[in-house]
Amino acid sequence: METKWFTLRTVEDKESIAQAADILRRGGLLAIPTETVYGLGADGLDETAVLHIFEAKGRPQDNPLILHIPDASWLTRYCEDVPDAAYKLAERFWPGPLTMILKKKPCVPLRTTGGLETVGMRCPDHAVTRAIIEASGVPVAAPSANTSGRPSCTTAEHVREDMWGKIDGIVDGGPCQVGVESTIIDLTVTPPQLLRPGGLPLESLRDALGEVTVDKAVTQKMGDGEKPRAPGMKYRHYAPHAKVTVLTGDGAETAAYIRAHITPGGGVICFDEYVKLFPDCVTHPLGAEGDKAEQARRVFDALREFDHTDVTEIFAQCPDDTGLGLAIGNRLKKAAG
Ligand code: AMP
Ligand code: MG
Repeated sequence: METKWFTLRTVEDKESIAQAADILRRGGLLAIPTETVYGLGADGLDETAVLHIFEAKGRPQDNPLILHIPDASWLTRYCEDVPDAAYKLAERFWPGPLTMILKKKPCVPLRTTGGLETVGMRCPDHAVTRAIIEASGVPVAAPSANTSGRPSCTTAEHVREDMWGKIDGIVDGGPCQVGVESTIIDLTVTPPQLLRPGGLPLESLRDALGEVTVDKAVTQKMGDGEKPRAPGMKYRHYAPHAKVTVLTGDGAETAAYIRAHITPGGGVICFDEYVKLFPDCVTHPLGAEGDKAEQARRVFDALREFDHTDVTEIFAQCPDDTGLGLAIGNRLKKAAG
């Protein structure tokens, strides 16, 4: 298949927006930029188009997709019994890295929701992508644009690596500003429950809603036969080819631990302050120890870059689990399996 490349940095580029929207409207596959990670989009109401997303990614069919909309006014088109909490969160955090799980209307195919009666809804903080969705007139089902099991894509070049020749178009809207996927909150249960940590901190949700519980799958390893409530959480995600060991705790101490255990030529993902301790290793700095926003932006690039090397073992420093740290740690630990 021929893949069309759009470099699209402004909503003023109406011609390219119309062409990109046309791909969606005709049931095609289009990689779209968002503030979190690149998405692989298709018309979320078109079962065949949605099937093609699963095929292009090699994604298991029971792993549901998130519907992307240009604003909260589209919620009632696809969702039943939308609670006040949804509008409250949308008002405060949309457009932004927050997905809400709501009861779906019959027009949303089970193919899109992995067989569930609920659907994930999000409004991405990327003006070009919102303009494309608006122009297409359809809600865009979009999982991350990586091949299933690989680290998510935070640049259009990464999407090219995984999807060239398999999809109809790639929209290059620049590097992702957040770098980890959206936070997912289930609003069909009381109190609301965090299903996946992401670009919006849990603390912000609690600040807006009061009590928010946390699904066991977020912090603990699931036992055999246990089912996480966000189906995607059961898969080993974001995996580089090398074995990954994740270290939490004081940066100077974990750096000393890595120094003592690593063999020359090994891989290290570490805070900027400690890079100089590993001159004989392949290092990917994650950002300064105190700068979690930068760490979130870089975590997937670091994991992905190691696949271009012969490194067989990676040690990774991990921030504490407050703020964005919960999401960064979750992605690193999933990479470690
Ligand atoms: P991504 O893989 O980043 O596209 O995010 C999709 C993830 O959102 C899935 O793997 C699920 O974990 C979660 N998700 C989407 N829809 C639902 C839903 N209706 N109920 C629970 N989790 C969902
Ligand atoms: Mg994904």
